[in-house]
This record gives sequence, structure tokens and C-alpha cells, in this order.
Amino acid sequence: MPRALLVILDGCADRPVKELGNKTPLEVAIKPAIDRLTADGSCGLMDVISPGIRPGSDVAHLAIFGYDPYKYYPGRGPLEALGAGIPLNPGDVAFRANVATVNDELIVVDRRGGRYIGADEAREIEEIINNEVLPILKSKYGIDAIYKQTVEHRGVLVLRGAVSPNVSDTDPHVVGARVAEARALSEDAKVTASYVNEFTRLVYEKLSRARFNDKRRREGKVPINMVLLRGAGSLRKFEPLSSKYKIKPAIIAGVALIRGIGVALGMEAINVENYVGSKDDDFNSAFHAAAEALKNHDFVFLHVKPTDSMSHDGDARGKVMIIERVDAGLRRFIEEAPGDTYIFITCDHATPITVRDHTGDPVPFMAWGPDVMRDEVTKFSERDCARGFWNRIKGIDVMNIIANYLGAIEKFGE
Ligand code: ZN
Ligand code: ZN
Repeated sequence: MPRALLVILDGCADRPVKELGNKTPLEVAIKPAIDRLTADGSCGLMDVISPGIRPGSDVAHLAIFGYDPYKYYPGRGPLEALGAGIPLNPGDVAFRANVATVNDELIVVDRRGGRYIGADEAREIEEIINNEVLPILKSKYGIDAIYKQTVEHRGVLVLRGAVSPNVSDTDPHVVGARVAEARALSEDAKVTASYVNEFTRLVYEKLSRARFNDKRRREGKVPINMVLLRGAGSLRKFEPLSSKYKIKPAIIAGVALIRGIGVALGMEAINVENYVGSKDDDFNSAFHAAAEALKNHDFVFLHVKPTDSMSHDGDARGKVMIIERVDAGLRRFIEEAPGDTYIFITCDHATPITVRDHTGDPVPFMAWGPDVMRDEVTKFSERDCARGFWNRIKGIDVMNIIANYLGAIEKFGE
């Protein structure tokens, strides 16, 4: 069976940039490898969700992987967990968490615990919750749980077992209000709600007595004695990529959230050194790893982050440079990959330099392979791809198009 590489250039599609002579970064970048594939292959434009809809990277990737985000978007809690590297199974319930300061009547004094939380304090908070709070709840409710502090005052709580995401927030969302009681929003959520309320009480009791709070008080800082929960959600039951498209998939992504989504959908994560979603990412190593991975997988997904980051920073030249460095990596891939490999390149959304945020513009799409139709387009860009064979596709079509070339999925009908 042939194999395929799908490259997502995050936020790479753009609009004309004055500084670049009213061209886009893709039009200006010197990218012989990508353009050679484009000339030998076929391209088009893609509406990631629908024309004009501005997607977040999470929603966009769900669509591109073939899962309708209007049905499968799990909410922010689960995505925070995936972004924190906590593996999630369908049915697990994840909450976003804030460490906070409350008075002895549980009135919220500071929703972010004074905002600045040291790394030592974060570790201590995790230890207290994981070692002193969650085991008590486990013995009473039989629910497994894990708590992780993510960035600054933010964290994530994941529950595993007979749990329901239909519980209201304990975060009152305003200062001066009491920590809210979690309410069951459906009949099956009663146990989860009482679990959460007991969590609130235990966290207050244990954190209030924590040593790091004595130190904070001495330093004149507010204590951190509460964890506020919101945005409960869980992954819906879904057919994993492997059975949906009859492929053995792998993912290379420096960004934890994207890698987490891939792993949740059944892809094997491949770690690459110096590939963490930053501007210094080593694309040569990432593409080399992709070529290696195709020896024992038939589908490899490679995510390129800094094209998006450069746009958020408004750095047009920097974005051009990233595209050129990706091109050099791809050149290496073409030399190393097995001969029967198809290559697909597209973006998860546009992030125009002029906007510095995601927009709902269509993005270029390119397909190349042994028997892919060759069209007249010779350059991979927003304008050029508009004249291609694929015309206008949607994000949700991408995996079907790939699986169609790989030839593994069953016919629809006889
Ligand atoms: Zn993105
Ligand atoms: Zn972005």
C-alpha cells in the first residue's frame, strides 16, 4: 500500500502585505521544493470550515482530520488537558482550573491567586491535590483523577470513571462572590457534582494549611487556597483514524495541543529533538523523522507552527524565512521518503500579517504523487492555487482525498 505525508503550515495563508510589495509571504518566499511538487501535482483552495468562518487551530485540525467540529468539538476543558499532555479517553471529564484566593466564607478575593505563582508553588499545589485530595475522593467515589498546573494560575483537572461533563462551574467568574456549588445539569451528573463539591471543600482545607502559604503570607502575598473549576467537557465517542481511513497514522507536532488532538484520535506521536513549535524549530530533523516514520506507518502528519506565530507577531520577513526553512526540510524528505509516497500540503487557516489573528479566508491546498493529476499551477500560493484542479474543497474533505489515493477505504455502494 502507498503512503502519505500531510504537512499543515499553521496560519500560513495570508493576504497581500505592503511591506512585501503587496504580495503574500507564500508568493515572496523562495521555495523550490514546494513549488516543484505543485508544478508536478495539482492544487486548489480550501475552506477549512466554511467561507468566512474563523477557526481556532483546534477546531481546524479536527475538521482536517475528518471529524466535524460542530459535532466533535469537546470544549475548552478537554483541550486544556490535551495541551497539557494529559492523554484523554472518550468519556473522561476535563475542567479548566484557576488557583484562587478565598476568605473563610469561601468568598473569592482574587480569581488568580495574585496571578504570579512560582514554579515551586505550582509543584507544591499539584502534589497536595494529587497526593492528599484526590486519593480521599478516589476511595469514596471510585473516580480516578489527575490535577496539573499548566501556565501561571491555570491548571486542569481530569476525572476518569463513571463521570459526566454535565456539571456547572464552581468558578463564580467574579470577585466578591462565593465559590459556586457545582450543580448536576443532567440526571447522570449527580455523583460528579457531589465529587466536585467535595473537591472544593478538601482543596480549601489542604491548601490553607500548606507550607508555601505561610511563606506567601510572610512575603505579604495573598494565599492560594482554592481551585476554581469551569468548562467541563469530554471527548465524544469517535471512530479512530486507523479504522475510519484504514491507515496506521503518526503525528509529528511540537505544539502539545495539536499532538494531543492527534493522539486522542489514535495517531502515534513521534518526538523530534528541537521541535517544540518555536521559531527555532529544526525542520530538517522533523522531515527526516517523517521519512523514517513512513517506513512503518502509512500516514504521517507533520505540523509546522511558527508560520502562525510570525503572523501573530506581525513579522512578514520572519514568516517568509520560516517558509524557506520548511522548504529546505521538505527537500530532504523528498530524497529520503519511500518512492510510493504521496505529499499533501495545506494550512489550518489564514493568519494574515495585517490582521495578526486567524481569519476565515480560504487556504491553498496541494496534492502530489505518482498518479496525481497535473494541473497548470506551478507555484504554491493563495492566488495561484485558485486556478487548480481541486477548485474549492473543505477541511473535512482532506482525509477522504488522501485515503482515496491510498486506496484502502471501501466503496460507498456496490
Ligand atoms: Zn492554527
Ligand atoms: Zn494562531
